[in-house]
Amino acid sequence: MALVVQKYGGTSVGSVERIQAVADRICKTAREGNSLVVVVSAMGKTTDTLVKLAKEISNNPCRREMDMLLSTGEQVTIALLSMALQELGQPAISLTGAQVGIVTEAEHSRARILQICTDRIESHLNKGEIVVVAGFQGVSNTANLEFTTLGRGGSDTSAVALAASLKADRCEIYTDVPGILTTDPRLVPSAQLMSEITADEMLELASLGAKVLHPRAVEIARNYGMPLIVLSSWSDRPGTKVVSRLPQPRSLQGMEIAKAVDGVEIDRDQAKIALLRVPDFPGVAASLFGEISNQNIDVDLIIQSIHEGNTNDIAFTVVNRVLQPAEAVAEAIAPSLRTHPTAVDEAEVIVDRKIAKVTISGAGMIGRPGIAAKMFKTLADAQINIQMISTSEVKVSCVIDEADCDRALHLLSLAFDIDLSSQKEITKSQYQGKHPPVRGVALDTNQARIAIRHVPDTPGMAAQIFLLLAKKNISVDAIIQSQRCHVINDVPTRDIAFTVNQNDADLACRAIAELNEKIGCGQVSGDTAIAKLSVVGAGMLGHPGVAAKFFAALSQEQINIQMITTSEIKISCVISEAEGVKGLKAVHEAFNLSGKERINIPA
Ligand code: ASP
Ligand code: MG
Repeated sequence: MALVVQKYGGTSVGSVERIQAVADRICKTAREGNSLVVVVSAMGKTTDTLVKLAKEISNNPCRREMDMLLSTGEQVTIALLSMALQELGQPAISLTGAQVGIVTEAEHSRARILQICTDRIESHLNKGEIVVVAGFQGVSNTANLEFTTLGRGGSDTSAVALAASLKADRCEIYTDVPGILTTDPRLVPSAQLMSEITADEMLELASLGAKVLHPRAVEIARNYGMPLIVLSSWSDRPGTKVVSRLPQPRSLQGMEIAKAVDGVEIDRDQAKIALLRVPDFPGVAASLFGEISNQNIDVDLIIQSIHEGNTNDIAFTVVNRVLQPAEAVAEAIAPSLRTHPTAVDEAEVIVDRKIAKVTISGAGMIGRPGIAAKMFKTLADAQINIQMISTSEVKVSCVIDEADCDRALHLLSLAFDIDLSSQKEITKSQYQGKHPPVRGVALDTNQARIAIRHVPDTPGMAAQIFLLLAKKNISVDAIIQSQRCHVINDVPTRDIAFTVNQNDADLACRAIAELNEKIGCGQVSGDTAIAKLSVVGAGMLGHPGVAAKFFAALSQEQINIQMITTSEIKISCVISEAEGVKGLKAVHEAFNLSGKERINIPA
C-alpha cells in the first residue's frame, strides 16, 4: 500500500461539480489500496476576490489581517471536499494548517515552513480516513499561534512539504494544464508536453515552470528526493514527472530555511580562453562555437559581458586536455573577427591555464539575494580575486586563480556549513547519458540589465555590490564580469553587468550610484528593453555543440547576443526584448522541441 499526497488547484475545485469529480478521482486512488492525504487550494478565483475585497477597504492592508482573510478560502474547500467524499461512503476529515501543525516562521503573507507535525494526520490515516488539508496556510512558531500564509501559489509547497514530512511514496499535483511543456505555448503553439524533467532543470527553467508549479515546492522535492508528478485533473494522461537525484540526508526541522546551499565544488581541470574585441554583431558567437563544436570540443562556462563601443569580449573554459585544439580554433578564427573587413584591430586571444572554477549550488538560492554576495564576501575576505562570474538559478560559479583553490573550497565549506566528505558527486556524472541535451526553452521578458563600468579589479568589489543589493532585498539573476581590463589612474578595472527584475531596476541603479561615491566605479546604466532566453537540459553536459546550435539559431534570425552566461545545465543569452519571441521560436525549433499536437491551455 502506498501513501500518496494529492494536491488540487483552484480551477480543479472551482465548482460543486468539480469538487465531486475530484472526490471521485480520490476515491478511485483509495480503492486501489492507497492511503491519501489531499491538499486543496481555494475554489476558483476565491483568493483574488478576497484580495480585491481587502483593497476596497484599505490601500495597504495589514499583512496579519490579510492572512486571516486569505486563509478562509482554503477552509471552504476542505470542508466541501470532505463532505463530497463522505457522500461517496469514503471516511474523510478536513484539517486546517493549524490543526495539522504546519509550523511556519511568523512572517505574514510569505511564511516559510519550519516543520510539520505528522501525528494527527497519521492517526486519521490509520483509521482508514482520507485527510483533506488546507493548502497555502500554516501556523506561526510563536506563543500566540498566528495564522500565516506561504505566498501566492503556495498550496503546491504545502503538498510537497507534507509528502516529505510523511515520507509519502509520491506527490501528485493536479492542475488545469496537462503538465510541463517545452516552452510557453501561448508564445509557441507547437510546444510539447514533457514526460519527465529533473528538479534542477525545473528550477533553472524558473520563468517557464513557475506558472505551473511553485518553485518552493520543487525545491523541497529536490532536497528530500520526493517523486513529484504534475498532471491534469481533467484527463487520465500521465503528465510530467519531476525527478530528483538521491538527496543528501537532511533534517525535516527548519525545512524551508536550513541550508540554502548544499554543495561546494572545485574544478581544477579548467583553462580559460578569452577573445578580446570581437565585433558586436549577430553571428560571431555562432561561428566561434560552431567551429569549436565541429572539432567536437566540449566547452564548459561561456561568458560574454556587455559590449564596449562596437566590440565584445567572449571567454570560455574547457578542460585542460582540449585546451590546445580549442586555442587553435580561436587563433584561426580571430583574424576574421574584425569590426570592419579592412580594420586592423583583429580580435586578440588570451589563454590562461592556471585557473580553477569554484561553484556553490543549492535550490535555496532562489529569492534569497544574500547567497551569491556571501560567496563573493568569503572569497574577498581571503583576498581571492574573482576573474569570471557565472550564475544561474541554482548555482554560482567563480573562476579564480588555481593557487587559491584549496583555500576557497575550505572557506566556502565553512561559510555554508557543508560537509565536504559527503560531496563526492554533486554534478557531472549524475546527469550524463539519460537526459536530452535540451529539455526546454524559456523566455523571460521581466528582466532589466544593469551595467557598472570600470569596477576596480580587486578582491571585495563584487562582494560590496551584491551585499548592498541583498540588503535592499533585490534578487539578482545573471551576473557577468567582463574580460577586458581598463587601467584607470593606475587601477585595473573591469565591467560588471547583471540582470534583475524590472521592478527592481531603478532601486538597484540608485543603490549602486550611492555606493559608487565610496568605491569609485564608472558609469552605471540600466536597460529594461532586454529579454533573457535560456535553454536548459541535464544532458548538455558532455554533449558538444549545444551552445553552437543555440547561437546559430539566433544568428540566422539576425538577432544580436548582448550577454551570455552558462551553468552546467543551462545557457542563457540576453537579447533585445523586441526580438524575444522571434528568438524563442527559432531556438525551440532548432532543438526539435516542436510537435504537431496542440496542447490546450486555459486562458
Ligand atoms: N489560493 C492561493 C492562491 O491563489 C494558494 C494556491 O492556490 O496555491 O494563491
Ligand atoms: Mg498554482
